[in-house]
Amino acid sequence: MGLEESTFRDVVCTVCGCCCDHLEVTVKEDTVVKVKNACAMSTSKLLNYMNERIMKPMIRRRGRLSGCSYRDAVDAAAKILLKSRSPLLYGWSLTSCEAVEVGVELAEEVGGFIDNTTSTCHGPTILGVHEIGESSSTLGEVRHRADLIIYWGCNPIHAHPLHMSRYTLLSKGRFRKSRSERTLIVVDVRRTDTAKMADMFIQVEPNKDYELISALRAAVRGDEIEQDEVGGVPTDLIEEVAEMLISCDFGALFFGLGLTMSPGKSENVDAALSLVRDLNSKTKFVIIPMRGHFNVNGANNVMTWMTGYPYAIDFTRGFPYYNPGETSAVDLLARGECDSALIVASDPVSNFPYKATCNLTSIPLITIDPHITPTVLCSDVVFPSALVGIETSGTVYRMDGVPLVARKLVEPPRNIRSDIEILRDILRRYRNLKRLGR
Ligand code: SF4
Repeated sequence: MGLEESTFRDVVCTVCGCCCDHLEVTVKEDTVVKVKNACAMSTSKLLNYMNERIMKPMIRRRGRLSGCSYRDAVDAAAKILLKSRSPLLYGWSLTSCEAVEVGVELAEEVGGFIDNTTSTCHGPTILGVHEIGESSSTLGEVRHRADLIIYWGCNPIHAHPLHMSRYTLLSKGRFRKSRSERTLIVVDVRRTDTAKMADMFIQVEPNKDYELISALRAAVRGDEIEQDEVGGVPTDLIEEVAEMLISCDFGALFFGLGLTMSPGKSENVDAALSLVRDLNSKTKFVIIPMRGHFNVNGANNVMTWMTGYPYAIDFTRGFPYYNPGETSAVDLLARGECDSALIVASDPVSNFPYKATCNLTSIPLITIDPHITPTVLCSDVVFPSALVGIETSGTVYRMDGVPLVARKLVEPPRNIRSDIEILRDILRRYRNLKRLGR
């Protein structure tokens, strides 16, 4: 790092859950100047990460956010948490596993709630896995072996742009070397750009995924379907698809928010997991959720190691308690049950329902984020932070559970610290204040 141009190879992308680890990034004078092998989303992040940055800590005084020393910001954050009876610590999917580890320690110390963005995306997936279990594999296995791919309720061409070329349809695997050796089925409520590449597109009526999966399960078992159609899909077609699923050598079902966030939620996921379980009595089949943020899977993993639960954890009782729907961030905020919040690398003000957002912005709010967001603008204390995978290193988990190291490529701007450092300093100050009884 310095004045000379240098190229980093095998760089891990920190945008979506694919965590592509084949990027080439050229750096000159501590600035990214060239990016190779990345998709448009990743290239845009790597070349523009300095846009809209926060450059100094801020505290709200007389209604306005103004610059302050780092020490004052740490002190103010620790005092907010010390005064709270039920603080919420939320975000965690756009930071490193090491930062999440400190976050869990802080949540336990302050006796609050800790939740990650899973509760607004693949929470139902995790609930489904609790109930049914999952037949899974790495994306490498899919790349080398899968001859049948299903994308259900997801549109990777836009949300995970290199998923198809690195791991599925267009990838060159050890045993499946070309597009002609793979079949793609897309199930969605509309003909998406991914659906346009499919060998078979099945248009399901909105909110009828559960019915369609249940009919497919019946057809896979060999049961007769008495209706002419299910979820807008003719029975003949359902039986044809069931035959394709049974007769493949290695099938992989990828699913997204079209399944987890439409009515039925975890029931839809239960049905999909059960379909794949049924199929494994006839052939080899795996199911993998299309995780969105680059380390949402890591947040689930770290929280599970440390507390036994993957998200929506309540420490207010002095021990970890878990009941999504009761202890998840949106529900807590909608009921007005938190009296302060610490947000790490997330923008709930832009994404949460109106009532939850109103309550979030009415309580003391601390935010740690590299960029200016609506949540930052509503905060009482703001910490600028270094970007994981660009300005600081850290461990991240790919959507299939493979851990990877996202490396530091450039120095962060002066006096900008990592999430880990900031969280440790808040924790240390909190403990000191508590010991002093302030
Ligand atoms: S597909 Fe996702 S992980 Fe891969 S380069 Fe694009 S944004 Fe990054």
